[in-house]
Amino acid sequence: MWRYLRPDSMAVLNDDAVKRSLARYFNVMQGEKPAKFQIAKKIFANFNKDDSLETLWQRHSSLTRDFYKLEKEIDTEQKNLEDIPQPSKSYLDLKIEIARRILEECHFCVRKCGVNRLNGHLGFCKCGTELTVSSIFEHMGEEPELVPSGTIFAMGCTMRCKHCQNWTISQWVDKGEVYPLEKLAKEVEALHKNGCRNANLVGGEPTPWLKQWLETFKHVNVNIPVVWNSNAYYSQETARLLAGFADVYLLDFKYGPGECATQISEAPDYWKVCTQNHLTANEYGELIIRVLVLPNHLECCTKPILEWIAENLGGETRVNVMFQYRPEWRAYEVPELRRRLTREEMEAAIKLAKDAGLTNFIT
Ligand code: SF4
Repeated sequence: MWRYLRPDSMAVLNDDAVKRSLARYFNVMQGEKPAKFQIAKKIFANFNKDDSLETLWQRHSSLTRDFYKLEKEIDTEQKNLEDIPQPSKSYLDLKIEIARRILEECHFCVRKCGVNRLNGHLGFCKCGTELTVSSIFEHMGEEPELVPSGTIFAMGCTMRCKHCQNWTISQWVDKGEVYPLEKLAKEVEALHKNGCRNANLVGGEPTPWLKQWLETFKHVNVNIPVVWNSNAYYSQETARLLAGFADVYLLDFKYGPGECATQISEAPDYWKVCTQNHLTANEYGELIIRVLVLPNHLECCTKPILEWIAENLGGETRVNVMFQYRPEWRAYEVPELRRRLTREEMEAAIKLAKDAGLTNFIT
């Protein structure tokens, strides 16, 4: 059925530029290579629960190097994942243990609230310890290479965009449903069985729930690429844990280097954090960038973002220049955000993308 709804999702399979920028994702989606979390499960990790966090991170750094070496050997058919026995403790288990320690003094995102979520304390995002899900469905509205996308919307967010379109989720207006992780793993397997091309972890924001996502995929027994669909406002520790887990980083990039992120989304240091996380994502996985064009923000935000992408990640980076902005939630508090984009602004954004040298973008 979905083939008829989105013919571009079939056409994209033959788009050479998209195939180049998302080569491994396409292979995993088509069952030709294993998803990263499947490889992570096969790497032995020597650690104990009473090891210090510093020791765990040292092991993790070394195993991250081992991971990418093994991934390359598997991808070039020097090794076969099936031939590698299941270890008693894996690189994925190590990530789960580190993530559990982070929960004790939460710093999954750059707010670094430092609260002990395991003791019931809540930080800015109001996320606790039990993964709370708003909805799970086969999403037909994502980028053509992703649909149908098995999307899991988790509650809570690490930013507070006044124009948030999912504010009932990000701000916990909805209650959501607590999901036992083994049950969620079964949902992921069902999405795969129903033809979804990927497991799309989103919210709100997926970052506060990283420990729960990692644990969920410990129980997933199908080969499905993981899409990390995030605002890119996460800590370096989260970026390190995502290496060897996220196949595709689907990252927002919506504010330039000025004060817009702080004023509109309560996100200080956004540019520094966001650019660093895009660079790291590009190093550890494959990247799709969403640039939401905001009214009156073409010069201060859209232009520097598109130029930065072309200069630092290359002209062939897959970019979605998004014109979907509409005033939602508290957007009325920001005068220029009380309206949708004009036709002229959309045309100007396309010209900015072309002038920047981007050749693999959609709108
Ligand atoms: S994930 Fe939530 S609790 Fe943790 S640092 Fe970020 S906002 Fe604070």
